[in-house]
Amino acid sequence: MSANILDGRKLAAQLKDELREEVRQLQKQTGQVPRLVNILVGDKHDSCAYANSQKKLADKLGISCDLLRLPEKVSQADLIESIKKLNDDDEVHGIMIHRPIPNHIDYGEAANYLDANKDLEGINATNIGKMLLGETEMIPCTPASAMEHIKSTGINLAGKEAVIIGSSDIVGKPLGLLLLREMATVTVCNIATSKAGKLLDHIARAEILIVAVGKPLLVKGEWIKEGAIVIDVGINHTEKGMVGDVEFETAKEKASFITPVPGGVGPVTVVMLMRNGLQAFKHYLSSKKL
Ligand code: NAP
Repeated sequence: MSANILDGRKLAAQLKDELREEVRQLQKQTGQVPRLVNILVGDKHDSCAYANSQKKLADKLGISCDLLRLPEKVSQADLIESIKKLNDDDEVHGIMIHRPIPNHIDYGEAANYLDANKDLEGINATNIGKMLLGETEMIPCTPASAMEHIKSTGINLAGKEAVIIGSSDIVGKPLGLLLLREMATVTVCNIATSKAGKLLDHIARAEILIVAVGKPLLVKGEWIKEGAIVIDVGINHTEKGMVGDVEFETAKEKASFITPVPGGVGPVTVVMLMRNGLQAFKHYLSSKKL
């Protein structure tokens, strides 16, 4: 059997069309569009390029996205001051702090100053807590992208064995919560699972396998359950180019659906950021009864 390939670019295009239409409708009703601000500390080439590509996507969707550039040496206190000003600005609906960020900045502390309703990446403590309780739609973008891929297969997750490899705060753990919401039975593995020699047992019974580790080709096709849905979140730059955490060529012979790297989870992730932007805008409109 050869798996159906979950084409992230195609899925992203569909989701963009839906977002663009919703933005257009809201603009027609209110005369306003979502306005987002991306805080960029320093001027590292890669970060600027990524921030600019986010802006280009926003433009295409009819969303306004401004860059707030702060100097490389900005203090933590000044960064927090900037965040507070944006929180208080009614014309700013969504905010993100671009990463990577210089080492002297405590990213977690700064992110916790973001107004939870404007927290575009859904990563501050308030939003993670609300996500646990099912009280926010500001979902972290990479887990949201993985979920969109899973939903696109049409599977009903209730009662399914879902195994996540990797338990980071921004990917593995939030994804566990999202899968629980859909009534999957969730196992989250970490480095200790591997060290205890138990990783293969967990992988072998996974009907949905999501790998978010950051180790090239860690998971071999022969370990995967026949017919599993495999979502590879990993991005690894190697001499042979970008590869995921899953050995795609062998895994696609066992899986029923699989995401490629590149072209799988990545292209949808940035669209999820824009979806959170729209969500933040809707929150603003309802708070103003518009
Ligand atoms: P991270 O913070 O480094 O977390 C990696 C996780 O993997 C940790 O929980 C770690 O466990 C676990 N781990 C490491 N080695 C393991 C092993 N041999 N067996 C089992 N678990 C192991 O990374 P991240 O930020 O979650 O990102 C993970 C990958 O996703 C990276 O390749 C990153 O580039 C990629 N990513 C992709 C997107 C996208 O849009 N496609 C977005 C974000 C990240 P411990 O905590 O116990 O050490």
